[in-house]
Amino acid sequence: MKKQPFITKEQAQKIAAEYPTPFHIYDEKGIRANCEAVKKAFAWNRNFKEYFAVKATPNPFLMRIMQDYGFGFDCSSAAELALCEAIGARGDDIMFSSNETPAQEYAYADRLGGIINLDDITHIDFLEKTIGKIPETISCRFNPGGVYEIANGIMDNPGDSKYGMTKAQLFQAYGMLKDRGAKNFGLHAFLVSNTTSNDYYPALARTLFTLVVELYKETGCRISFVNLSGGVGVPYRPEDVPNDIAVIGEGVRIAYEEILVPAGLSDIAIYTEMGRFMMAPYGGLLTTAIHEKHIYKEYIGVDACAANLMRPAMYGSYHHITVLGKEDAPCDHIYDVVGSLCENNDKFAIDRALPEIEKGDLLFIHDTGAHGFSMGYNYNGRLRSAEILLKEDGEAKLIRRAETMKDYFATFDCFPQVAMLSDGTADRRLAGE
Ligand SMILES: *Cc1c(COP(=O)(O)O)cnc(C)c1O
Repeated sequence: MKKQPFITKEQAQKIAAEYPTPFHIYDEKGIRANCEAVKKAFAWNRNFKEYFAVKATPNPFLMRIMQDYGFGFDCSSAAELALCEAIGARGDDIMFSSNETPAQEYAYADRLGGIINLDDITHIDFLEKTIGKIPETISCRFNPGGVYEIANGIMDNPGDSKYGMTKAQLFQAYGMLKDRGAKNFGLHAFLVSNTTSNDYYPALARTLFTLVVELYKETGCRISFVNLSGGVGVPYRPEDVPNDIAVIGEGVRIAYEEILVPAGLSDIAIYTEMGRFMMAPYGGLLTTAIHEKHIYKEYIGVDACAANLMRPAMYGSYHHITVLGKEDAPCDHIYDVVGSLCENNDKFAIDRALPEIEKGDLLFIHDTGAHGFSMGYNYNGRLRSAEILLKEDGEAKLIRRAETMKDYFATFDCFPQVAMLSDGTADRRLAGE
């Protein structure tokens, strides 16, 4: 399917005149339509809830859009919990699915009344010691080990991942939690990332529902929610077939009817913690071509770099690029599109067929709405970009300003001579001037 940016060249030029590139831009209309589709796909389950994975796009303005649909938030750190606190999310609107968790973060999650999802059996003692009790509602993360196969082949290898508990530990953990006062139990598993098959959630649901029935029959412990976590993918490449959330929801419903209902467990809530599927396609990184270079290959240098979008450098991920205004021009040039980092993996595209790019052209890098801005960093002294929301009425709203040199120097406040003057230049006193 041809990938279309959600903004035109004219719109982008107008926004870039006010907020210089690079910046991430998000499409409110697309986000809302997708939230509706997710709600509808699982409407058959009375207590369904999506807990948006905050790490994908930790911006309170975007999180507030999710709140309009009754969604909660999946957090794994104090800062993510604080974002929830800031927008008024409390109690069972918060899922705390962390691992290697510091004590004070468990305490914070508990203070907000969030649901704690334990990554390991040893965390039962750790949590009890930290907060002085076991919460009434608690969840455990399962790792089935081995290789996880679904209909379209082997997709990942849970046996090599650090997350979750073995089945034996899981059964033991529920017993321990019950003995120490827990009343409502959840089961969570996250096995595969960016799946491109409608079968992943239904297959995972079958695994987890079967486990729920076994647990009930063997121990009498009743699970009250099954959390399918994240992992539903998006079509990064034009040739990728998009997941259909309606088909996915229906697949989970069939598994529910076949496994849970006959076992007398028909009141179990389904939770999800999607990040990528909720946001990736509804964000783009807008960047300007500022240089071209002809050596052994043809390079286009842009004003964004891997500090703004790490996925290509980190995973070799494909992100589609559209040269705005040249949507229908022939892709008869082969370029490496590169950022400025002193790292040779700072390449948004390698040997990519694109229309001829001229300096000043605006490039729209697709699908940066999840795990884009949020993975940003300051290597090479690069500053994090702005985030802009393209509202439904077409207005561009700044939802996070770009970092300035002052932000970069802020953590030297232990060393005032290096502090920045208000005009953004360095205090030269250190240099004896
Ligand atoms: C990252 C993460 C998610 C979201 O994953 P996506 O692939 O973005 O859907 C959900 N739950 C947990 C515990 C995670 O770590």
